[in-house]
Amino acid sequence: MTESSILSGRKFAKEVRSNLADEIIQKGGRPPGLAVVIVGDDPASRVYVSMKEKACGKVGISSSVVRFKRKVSQEELLRELHRLNCDSEIDGILCQLPLPDHISPDTVASAILPEKDVDGFHPVNVGRLWRGEEGLFPCTAVGILALMNNNNVDIDGADAVIVGRSNIVGKPMAALLLRENATVSVAHSHTSDLEGLCRKADILIAAVGRPRFITREFVKPGATVIDVGTNRTEEGLVGDVDFDSVVDMCSAITPVPGGVGPLTIAFLLSNTVKAWKQNV
Ligand code: NAP
Repeated sequence: MTESSILSGRKFAKEVRSNLADEIIQKGGRPPGLAVVIVGDDPASRVYVSMKEKACGKVGISSSVVRFKRKVSQEELLRELHRLNCDSEIDGILCQLPLPDHISPDTVASAILPEKDVDGFHPVNVGRLWRGEEGLFPCTAVGILALMNNNNVDIDGADAVIVGRSNIVGKPMAALLLRENATVSVAHSHTSDLEGLCRKADILIAAVGRPRFITREFVKPGATVIDVGTNRTEEGLVGDVDFDSVVDMCSAITPVPGGVGPLTIAFLLSNTVKAWKQNV
């Protein structure tokens, strides 16, 4: 078999960000505006929000962060989202997850205007995604699809298996691949013969949240393997795929780190620019 190619999300994300920066300069006028709402002081959330702010600044998106104490009521949070919905200088709004237990993520997702819902979690955008319509769709899945297209992965007619059925990754990934004419299976913790199902996949996407869960027994020779996992272990950041045992079998694979991770923020910026273009 020929050597497998390593799909660098880091390199692709850099190109995407650079194209967005050019697009913003060329269009001119009011810059795109992104509002990030954060509740509480979860350290990982703080890091993500600061990464998003920095990434916005580099491409010319004006970002603002609205911080609430952990004990903020859902009503107060919804009032702020309504204010941001009405702010004509804000094109995109996102509320950083996880939220404290007394706040419903579904209620929050539904409170953001679909046109400003840059995370793509509003039921209207979920419906548009599955119906094959235009809309704003979840950034990680959109980024993975763009990475595959950019690397000429054959999706039309391919058998795709996604391990994981979350609303954030697994389900939107399934909808996007279906739109591109893949035959899609979505596996989860109740799937019988997971190994056998995965071994049929031309495209195998792991979004499980378990370090090195996908070993070579799961992989069809020549498959494209996309590792969404970001598991923090004593050895550092580890994917859901056992990269070393799988790399020589597949035609293409994403590394961790440097694979899917950088795409999520790049495509959040891309969604913000998309929302901005509808507004100006
Ligand atoms: P999640 O909501 O925890 O979902 C995990 C999914 O894996 C569930 O559908 C679960 O099945 C399934 N699963 C768990 N154990 C399984 C098993 N033994 N066999 C088969 N399926 C199993 O996770 P998520 O939010 O989708 O995230 C998944 C991973 O991607 C995590 O490591 C997360 O950190 C990472 N992530 C990375 C990015 C990025 O930007 N790179 C973005 C988002 C997420 P059930 O539904 O049956 O429970």
